[in-house]
Amino acid sequence: MLDKSPAEEEPTSPIDPQANRKILDPGSNIHCKWRDQYHKCEIIERKESESLPGTYDYYVHYHEFNRRLDEWVHESRFDFSKIENEPKAPPPPLAEIQNADGQRLKVTRHYKRKFDEINHIQKGEDDTKLSALEKEHEEITKVKNINVIELGRYEIDTWYFSPYPEEFAKCEKLYLCEFCLKYMKKKKTLNRHKLKCDLRHPPGNEIYRSQSLSMFEVDGKKNKIYCQNLCLLAKLFLDHKTLYYDVEPFLFYVMTECDSRGCHMVGYFSKEKDSPDGYNLACILTLPPYQRKGYGKLLISFSYELSKKENKVGTPEKPLSDLGLLSYRSYWTQVLLEILRKHKLVNLSIMDISSMTSIRTEDIISTLQSLNLIRYWKGQHIISVTPKAIEEHLKAYSKQTTRIEPKCIHWAPMNPPLSAKKR
Ligand SMILES: [Zn+2]
Repeated sequence: MLDKSPAEEEPTSPIDPQANRKILDPGSNIHCKWRDQYHKCEIIERKESESLPGTYDYYVHYHEFNRRLDEWVHESRFDFSKIENEPKAPPPPLAEIQNADGQRLKVTRHYKRKFDEINHIQKGEDDTKLSALEKEHEEITKVKNINVIELGRYEIDTWYFSPYPEEFAKCEKLYLCEFCLKYMKKKKTLNRHKLKCDLRHPPGNEIYRSQSLSMFEVDGKKNKIYCQNLCLLAKLFLDHKTLYYDVEPFLFYVMTECDSRGCHMVGYFSKEKDSPDGYNLACILTLPPYQRKGYGKLLISFSYELSKKENKVGTPEKPLSDLGLLSYRSYWTQVLLEILRKHKLVNLSIMDISSMTSIRTEDIISTLQSLNLIRYWKGQHIISVTPKAIEEHLKAYSKQTTRIEPKCIHWAPMNPPLSAKKR
C-alpha cells in the first residue's frame, strides 16, 4: 500500500490502483483485472478473505461478459481509483453464517437472510414455497457454488449457481452418476454407487434411434428424482431458468450417444405437458463437452418434429439463454432457407411456412428480418429474396450433416388432458 503525500508524487507516475482502498458494498461498480486488463464489474457479494484476514474477497459480474464468467476475486485485483455508482447508504452491518464445512463467514444481512431461506427450503419441508420464492432468490443465485462436476468420463467446469441441497452446495466438486444423475460428494461414494446402479440409459421410453443417437422421453411425474437431478445439473450451465423441484408437469427429452458402456447424455430439453402459451420447449441444454457439434440444433429440430406430430405450431419459452438463442437462430435460418429453396419461392406465405415447419409466424418473421429477406409492404410481410441470396446464406450450413430422421421417431402425442388441472 502506497502512502505518499501528493507533494512526493511525480505528475507522470502511474496511479497505484490499490491506493484509496476501501470496503465496497454490493451494487458498487469498480474496475477489476481479468487476464491482464481492467474491466468494469459489479460487486455482487462480499466476504472476508480466508487467506488474508482483514481484506475481502468479492463476487463480481463483469459488465461486458456473460454471467458464466462471474467469479470470486480478491480485492487486490481492483483499481480503487475507478469506483462508480457507489451506494450512498452506509454499509450494512455484517452477519455470520456457517457453511457446510463448519466455517463461519461474515456476510451482509441481506445475504444471510437469503442463505437461511434457501437452506430451509432445500431441506424439502415445503415444496410449494419454492416457486414463490424463486424470484426473490435471484440475488443468491448470482453466486456460483459448485465449481466442477465429474460426469462419466468428463470433468466439467460449471458456469452458474445451482440449488443443490445444503450439504452438497458448498462442495468444490460433485461426482455424478452419468446414468441416474445422483450426485455425491466423494469419488469413493460414486464408485460404490456404480457397482449397484443398473441404469445404462435415461429412464423412460426410447422414442428415437438413428445410428448411435437416441432420444428418451422421461416423465417428470413417473421419474421425479431423475428429473430433479437433471434440472439441478442443467442449472449449473443455465443462467436464468429456475425449475428444480416442480418437475411433474413436464416431459424431459434426453438425447444420448450410445456405445458399449451405455447411452451417454449429450443434452436435453424439457417441455410442458400442456402449455397454454403454445410453448414446445421450456429449457434446453447441450452439456459443455458436446457443445459446438450441432447437438443444440438437433434438440431443437426434435422439438419441432414433435410439434408436427401434434399438428401444432410451437415456440420456445422466453427468455432463451445466449447460447440457446444462437442455436435457435441457426436452426430457423437453415429450415427457412431450405424451404424457400425447395419451393423455388413460388407463392409462399409466412402462414404456409409456419404450417409446414411448426415454427411460429413471429419467429419466422424475425429470422427473415435478421437475414434481410423480408419487406413490409401495404401492411403485409412479403418475402423478398433471390435464389442467389438463398444459396449464399446456405453455404454456411453445408457442413452440418447430422439430422433428425423423422421416420425414426416412434412417438404419438399424449391424449389431451381430461381436465386442465391448474396448479
Ligand atoms: Zn446411478
